[in-house]
Order: sequence, then C-alpha cells, then structure tokens
Amino acid sequence: MNVFKLLIDGQLVDGASSIDVINPATGEVFQQAPRADEVQLNTAIEAAKNAFSAWSATAIDYRRELLIKLADAIDARLGEFAKLLTREQGRPIEQAQGEIFFCSYTLRLFAGMELAPKVLKEDDNAKVVEYRQPLGVVATITPWNFPLLMVTNKLAPALLAGNTLVIKPAPTTPLTTLMLGELCADIFPAGVVNTVVDNNDLGGLITSDPDVAKVAFTGSTATGKKVLASSAETLKRLTLELGGNDAALVLDDVDVKAVAAQIYNCSTYNAGQICVAIKRVYVPDALYDEFCNELARLANNSVVGDGFEPGVQVGPLQNKLQFEKVKRLLEDTKKRGNIIAGGEALNRPGYFIAPTIVRDIDDKAKLVAGEQFAPILPVLKYSDLDDALARINATEFGLAGSVWGTDIDRAASVAQRIDSGSVWVNSHMALDPAVPFRGAKQSGLGVELGQEGLYEYTQAKVITVPKNSR
Ligand code: NAD
Repeated sequence: MNVFKLLIDGQLVDGASSIDVINPATGEVFQQAPRADEVQLNTAIEAAKNAFSAWSATAIDYRRELLIKLADAIDARLGEFAKLLTREQGRPIEQAQGEIFFCSYTLRLFAGMELAPKVLKEDDNAKVVEYRQPLGVVATITPWNFPLLMVTNKLAPALLAGNTLVIKPAPTTPLTTLMLGELCADIFPAGVVNTVVDNNDLGGLITSDPDVAKVAFTGSTATGKKVLASSAETLKRLTLELGGNDAALVLDDVDVKAVAAQIYNCSTYNAGQICVAIKRVYVPDALYDEFCNELARLANNSVVGDGFEPGVQVGPLQNKLQFEKVKRLLEDTKKRGNIIAGGEALNRPGYFIAPTIVRDIDDKAKLVAGEQFAPILPVLKYSDLDDALARINATEFGLAGSVWGTDIDRAASVAQRIDSGSVWVNSHMALDPAVPFRGAKQSGLGVELGQEGLYEYTQAKVITVPKNSR
C-alpha cells in the first residue's frame, strides 16, 4: 500500500487521523488517506499566507516555468495517475488517461497566457492603465467526478497570477490530488501549494477564514449556496461552478442513428457523472420511437464493469451515497415513465447501475427536473419547437445545452434560445480550457478557464497618471 501525505508548508506530512478510500468497482477499502484536523488546516492557510509576498513578487516567466515543470511531471507519471484515478473514481482507464492528459494540457495553456497591463484610455491629459494583481490565498474545493482536472483548472490560473493555494479535494477521491501535491512539493517554494483532506468537515472553516481571499469551488448547487453564505462575512472573491440539468434538443432533420450515438455517449461518459453531461433529451414526435429504440439498443449493448477490464465503457458510480440516491431515483422513475433499457443496479459488488433509457416520462418527474448524475437518460417528446424550448428553459439550472440538426444555421439560431452559459451545436461537453466556461442561473457564479478565467484570480487596479505635472 502506498503512503499518501498532506503537503503543508513545503513538508509532506501525515494527517491527524486517516480516512478509508473505497474502490467503487468493488465497494472495498483499498487505501488510507491522511485526514487533516483544524490545526493542520490553519497551519496550511498560515503557510500559504506567509508564502504569498515572496511568490507574488516573482517574475511571471518564472511562474510559467514552474507550471510547465508541473505539467511535465504529470505527463511523466500519466499512467500511474490514470490507474490511481480509475481505482479511486471508477471510470474506464482510457477515460482516466483523458482526464490526466487534460490536466497537463490546461497547465501548459495557462502558462502561455498574459497578464500584461492594459491601457484603457490615453489622451493629452492622462493615461489610464489597468494592472492585474494577485488576490492572496486561494482555497480550491473540488468534487469527486473529475477529481484532478477540477484542481488543475484552478491551480494553473491561480499560481500564474501569483496567488498561493490551499487545495481540498472531495473525501471520496483524495488520492490523485495528494499525488499532485507530492509533485508540487518538489517544484514550488514551501507554502505556495498546500493540500488538506477532510471528511466533509473542513469546508465551512475554509470558506469563512479571513485569511482566504478567494474560494474557487466546484460542486453541487446546494453546497455552493453554503459557500456563498459562509464567504459573505469577509466578502471573498468566489468562483462557483455548480450543478446542471443540460438538455439536448434534437431537431426534425437529423440522422437518428448518428445523433443518438453521440447523445448516448454524452450522457453516459464517466457513468453520467459530469456537470455538463446530457441529462435529458427532447425529440420531435415524428422521430420519437426510432430515437428511443436506438438509444435503448446502445444502452443494451454497452459494456459495464470495472474500469480496468478491457472494453468497458461505463464504470460504477463513484460512491455509495450517490449509488443509494440513484437507486431511489430509479424506484421513482419506474412509477413515472417507461423504462426501455436497464433500470436496475447490477447484481455484483460495487456501485454499478445498468445504462438506462426512459421514455414517456413527464417533465416534472424527479429524473427530468433534477440532476441524476448517473447513466440514466430520459427521452421527452415534443411537437412544437417553441414549447420544447420553454420546457428546456423551465429550470433553475443553466449550465449548458446542445442543439442537433442537419441544417446548421437553423440549429445555431435555435441555440440562441437556450438559457445556459454554454450551448453547442451538434456536439456536447466540448469543453476547451482556452474558452471561458460559466453557469447561468443557479449553475454558478463567475468564470472558469480562458483568459477571463485567469482574470478571476486577480484584482484589477486602474492607475490614472496625468500627462503634465502641475
Ligand atoms: P458536493 O457539493 O457535495 O461537494 C463538493 C466539495 O465541497 C467537496 O470537496 C466537499 O467536501 C465540499 N464541501 C462539503 N460541504 C461543504 C461546505 N459546507 N462548505 C464548503 N465545502 C463543502 O459535490 P459533489 O457531490 O462532490 O460533486 C457533484 C456535484 O458537482 C454535481 O452537482 C455536479 O454537477 C457538480 N459539478 C459541477 C461542475 C461545474 O464545472 N459546474 C463540474 C463538476 C461537478
């Protein structure tokens, strides 16, 4: 068994206690992770605070260099990271490799970005320049569905801008983050990066700590609201990347087989546990039966199993709590719709749900109105496009969506009418670290990724200098 450590003030240390880490494909404990107590958390925040002045004074080119070193170090151990990710998170190994690849890609992309001063106005009287300064200690709080990418999406811009970090992963997937901390220990000065693991008990202390300048949070909308409330006292900067209930809207001119296959993949990748997974699909009545049958065929043919088994497409749900929640959701769904594929947990150890397709279900059913975070896709019929758009937009969520059609101009104009932060035409989940990503409505606050995402880790300061001294 490997021994994982917390990174606090440049030292790899044991936790005050430990927690079990479970392999979701077996339901068995396979590793212990160090768990920080309040004292260790405070030491980590203090270390980040003390490291800030020297780190923020370094040249940006030096910080770029260290981010690239970290990207190289991740690439050098990509296989090891991916295996650990599959073991703690559950998804098929190729999908785990994809996440790790994106982590180093994102680090390199941010390492190439600029934070140069911007002249806002210049005339005979004065020059007005906007400078970007770091904020101080940034805390990252991340979920269990993309445990490492959700960290590097925040670490890269935060460090490039000159902030220091305290990183807290979800307690069910702490190991890849701790491994990243080990790499950081060799690359960054002491205190610049710190990792702490909790058992869902330190989040509130982090978000209310006066020494934390910003919280970069990815997780559920319910927890995001707690973060917002708890940060209010010190008016922290916040990025909240929260839940979604993304709809795919199929137009009447599609090639059913081709589009159903893409929609199926975008609803079952990572066993459906993606904020921007397709969580409901709206299909015109003329294509409805054919589309449902094709989705059911794909679900019945999917290979479900341990992410290490060759050919597996859908792994287990990540944790027992989620598994129990989804089983209850399936019970409710049986009363509300017509299940035409799957519909059950697999009869084997681990947290497996058979890929499930549900038709003839109403918009108010829990499966349609909420965020299932599982490989279960409801298919909804529409006869009028305006009505379909109204149904799609009748939700508190606004993360993303997609429109599918052969006439691309028509599909693009329909995309304008979906109330979400991102909308794709003939694709979905096509996130790109160069492109800003944000949730509308209760799916988030602020921006992650892209140049705008980098600015979120800075305070803009505008200096106006007169042309003539008087
Ligand atoms: P969660 O909200 O339960 O937990 C997220 C993190 O918050 C964990 O690290 C958890 O320990 C921590 N936390 C728990 N209580 C806290 C508190 N009171 N204060 C501060 N932190 C606290 O989310 P989850 O179940 O781990 O992840 C799934 C959710 O994440 C889904 O809703 C999904 O849509 C969302 N998500 C969103 C995005 C996005 O970019 N919008 C990306 C991935 C996941």
